[in-house]
Amino acid sequence: MTAIESQSHLSPPKCCPICGGRLDYSGHEPSGHPVCADCGRPCYLDPKVCACVLIEDQGRVLLALRSEGRPEAGRWNLPGGFVDRGESVEAAAAREVREEVGLEVELGGLVGVFSYPDDPVVAIVYAARVKAGRLGPGGETDEVAWFEPAHIPWDLLAFQTTGDALKKYFAIG
Ligand SMILES: [Zn+2]
Repeated sequence: MTAIESQSHLSPPKCCPICGGRLDYSGHEPSGHPVCADCGRPCYLDPKVCACVLIEDQGRVLLALRSEGRPEAGRWNLPGGFVDRGESVEAAAAREVREEVGLEVELGGLVGVFSYPDDPVVAIVYAARVKAGRLGPGGETDEVAWFEPAHIPWDLLAFQTTGDALKKYFAIG
């Protein structure tokens, strides 16, 4: 099972969101989107937008260890998560940092927007610095730690985005 398949909210839907009919994935629609076998509407499978935050302090970056039961458990990632519909990406980034590591941050510039073929996730990564709060792991995090660039656990990162954002930010590789 891949990381994507293990995340049920990222699995392609079986039913039409409008009428509940069965979705036909046989590819008759030129766009490649499935079509409802009952009402005939195409179902647009949009990407999932993820807001992530690269928090730097004195040259070190904050990483969070994903807790048991989550996809990629036991691996390190940047604090972040999915943006809710109607929520600004910046607000989602700040909320996820608060929930996962207990800090209030001031967002800085955009590190980058990261997306990959056949991956439904589009990750928007901001740089940030700590404003307030008390550092500690939240509900979906087992541990939080600061890493010097030379000590980033490259083999234990959760996602391609995590490594690509860190390399871009610290101009590594
Ligand atoms: Zn339908």
